[in-house]
Amino acid sequence: MYSRAIKHASMCNQLIRSAEREEVLKILGRCYVTCCRQCSGPETGLRNTVRYKSYSPKGHQRLREHPVCIPIRGISSSPWHQVFAKDLFLGKFNKGRVMPFPKALDEDQSKLLGSLIDPVERYFLEKVDSSKIDEESKIPDEVMNGMKEMGLFGLQIPEEYGGLGLSNTSYARVVEAVCSDPAISTTLMAHQSIGLKGILIFGTNAQKEKYLPKLASGENIAAFALTEPSSGSDAASIQTRATLSQDGKHFLLNGSKIWISNGGWADVFTVFAQTEVVDDKGGKKDKITAFIVERAFGGLDSGKPEDKLGIRGSNTCEVYFDNTPVPVENVLGEVGGGFKVAMNILNSGRFGMAAGAAGGLRKLLSMAAEHATTRKQFGHTLSEFGLIKEKFARMSLAAYAIESMAYMTSAMIDLGEADCSLEAAMCKVYGSEGVWSGVNEALQIMGGMGYMKSYPFERMLRDTRILLIYEGTNEILRMYIALTGMQHAGKELKKMMKSMINPLKAPGVVSDLVSKRLKNAFGIAKTDVTGVDEALKDCADKLGRNIAAFSITSDKLLQKFGKEIVHEQMLLKRMADVAIHLYAMTAVLSRATDSKKNGIETADDEILLARRFCNEAFEKNVLLLDQIKKGSTANGDEEIKIIADKIFKAGRQIVEHPLSV
Ligand SMILES: Cc1cc2nc3c(=O)[nH]c(=O)nc-3n(C[C@H](O)[C@H](O)[C@H](O)COP(=O)(O)OP(=O)(O)OC[C@H]3O[C@@H](n4cnc5c(N)ncnc54)[C@H](O)[C@@H]3O)c2cc1C
Repeated sequence: MYSRAIKHASMCNQLIRSAEREEVLKILGRCYVTCCRQCSGPETGLRNTVRYKSYSPKGHQRLREHPVCIPIRGISSSPWHQVFAKDLFLGKFNKGRVMPFPKALDEDQSKLLGSLIDPVERYFLEKVDSSKIDEESKIPDEVMNGMKEMGLFGLQIPEEYGGLGLSNTSYARVVEAVCSDPAISTTLMAHQSIGLKGILIFGTNAQKEKYLPKLASGENIAAFALTEPSSGSDAASIQTRATLSQDGKHFLLNGSKIWISNGGWADVFTVFAQTEVVDDKGGKKDKITAFIVERAFGGLDSGKPEDKLGIRGSNTCEVYFDNTPVPVENVLGEVGGGFKVAMNILNSGRFGMAAGAAGGLRKLLSMAAEHATTRKQFGHTLSEFGLIKEKFARMSLAAYAIESMAYMTSAMIDLGEADCSLEAAMCKVYGSEGVWSGVNEALQIMGGMGYMKSYPFERMLRDTRILLIYEGTNEILRMYIALTGMQHAGKELKKMMKSMINPLKAPGVVSDLVSKRLKNAFGIAKTDVTGVDEALKDCADKLGRNIAAFSITSDKLLQKFGKEIVHEQMLLKRMADVAIHLYAMTAVLSRATDSKKNGIETADDEILLARRFCNEAFEKNVLLLDQIKKGSTANGDEEIKIIADKIFKAGRQIVEHPLSV
C-alpha cells in the first residue's frame, strides 16, 4: 500500500502531488520551468521525456509523459557549473552556488516528501526492534518485506524501472529516517548507494532494463564488491582477475572479496577485477574493470556472516569467485574503466551518510535531554551543570552544521552542480565524526546507565563506529579533500605563472595574483562573503578572512613542496580540516540567513547556532593555519613522527614502566 502511494507521488526525480489533473499539470509546469532554468545552456541540459504513472481520483492508473531538461554531470565550462569547495582553495567564494541556501524541492514537493517520510518513520518506530536485530544479528524477514512494500529498495531508481525516482535531496531525507536503525540503513545503502548505483550511472539501457526492476522491488538485492584481503584503502591494488574466454563471449572471474555488505544474500554484485588491456602503443597492462555479476552465473560463493562490533543485523561476508562466467555484455562502463566507476559510485552517495548522522544526533539530543532534565545529583538536575550543558550545545551545533552541509550538497547535486565530490567527502568525514562524538557524549550524560545493554546508547556507540571506516576511511578522505583541492589550486597557479611569463595575454589574472600577494604581505587579505543576515555579518567577515588565509597557505604549501606535498600528511590533514570548517561555516550562514528571511519559527535559534559555530570554527581555523605556517619542526609534527618511528622499531611502548617491574 505504501509502495503504491509513494510511487503514485514520484516523478521526474522530484515528488509531485498526483491528485487532480490540473494540479498535476500545475506542478509539472513549475517543475519544468525550474529544471530548464537551472540547466540553462544547451551544453548543460539534455531535453528528454519522462514517463510516469499517475492515478485518477478513482484510482485508475494512467501513463503520462512530461518533457524535462536533465542536467548532465561533469561539464564544467558553463559559469553555472562553478565548483564551490574546490574554489575555496583559490580563495574564491562562489556565492551564487550557496546563497541563498540551495533548495531542490518546492513547497508542494516538500509536502509530498513529508507524506512519504511519515509512514517510513512510523514503520521504524512501530515495527523495527533495533535491540532484537542487534541481539539476533538478523533483520527479520517481515521487516525486510515491509521495507520492500514501501519501495525503500528503489529510492533513486527511475520510475520507468519501477523505483521511486527520488532526487538526491529526497533520498537524503529518507536515508535520515531509515538511519534510526544503522544495521538496516547499511543494508539499504549497500544495496542502492553502492550496490546498484553503478548500473544507474554507467549502465547501458539493456543493463538497466534487465536489472533495475527487480532491484527496485527488492526481489533482487545488490552488493558492491571491491575490498580484498590485501587491498582496502588502496583499491587500485586488487588482485581479483577477469580473463576473456577463448570465444570472447565471457570473462572468467577468479579471486575473493572480503567484508562485502549484503554479500551473503545479494543476487547481483558490482564486482571490480583486473583485466588485461592493450594500450595505444600495443603494450599490455592490467587495468580495473567493473562487472555486473549474478549469483546465478555459478562459481560464486559467500562465506559465513562476520561477527561484528556493531551494525550486527547487516550481513557482511567474504565472496569468492571460481571461474565465474560473466557475459561480456555485463561489463559496466568501459573495459579498463573500472576504477573510475568505483570512485564515481563512492563519491556520489557520501552526503547521505551525513543526513543520517544529523538525524541520529537529533534523536540523541531528545533521548539525553529527557534524562538530563529529570536525573538529580547534588540536589540539582544534570541539566543545571555547565559541563553537561556544554555537551548538549556541542551536539546541537554539530547536528545543525552536519544537516546544513548534507542538504546543501544534495541540493547542489540536484540543481546540476558539475562536481560535488569534495563537498560529499566533507559531509561524510564531518558527519561520521560528529555523530560518533555525539553518541559518546550522550552515553557519558547517561552515566552508568549508558553503559548498560538495557539502554540503546552502547548499541548506538557500536553501530556508529563503522561510519569512520567504510565508504572511504576518514584518513583517506581527508587526504582526498586536501590533495584534490590543492591540485585544483595548483592548476590555476600554473596558469597564472604562464600568464606572468606573458602578462599581456591575461593581465587580469596577473593583477589578481599580485593583489592577493600584496594584501597578504600587509596582512589584509580577505575574501568577500556577502548576502548573510545582518546578525551574522561579523561571522561572514571571519569566514572571508579564513578563506583568504587558507588559499594563501595552499599556495605556499604548493610552492614549498610541489608534488612532494602528498607526503606531508599531517599538514594535509589540517588543510582538510580547515576546508571542512569553511564549507560548514558557509552552510550554516546560508541556512540561518535563509530561515530568518523566510520567517522560519526557529530562525533566531538558527542565528544563535550559526554564530557560535562560526566563531568556534574561525578560532580552530586560525590555529590550524598557524600550525601549518610554523612548519613541521616548530609545530611538533617532526617529534610526533620520531615517537611513532621509535615505537615501530621497538614494537612496543618506548619507555620503561615507572616501577621498572
Ligand atoms: C562492516 C563493513 C562493511 C563493509 N562493506 C563493504 C562493502 O560493501 N564493499 C566493499 O568493497 N568493502 C566493504 N568494506 C570494506 C571497507 O571499505 C574497508 O574496510 C575500508 O576501505 C578500509 O580498508 P581496510 O579495512 O583494508 O583498511 P586499510 O586500508 O588497511 O587501512 C587501515 C588504516 O590505515 C589507514 N590508511 C590506509 N592507507 C592510508 C594512507 N595512505 N594514509 C593514511 N592512512 C592510511 C586507514 O585510514 C585505516 O585507518 C566494509 C568494511 C566493514 C568493516
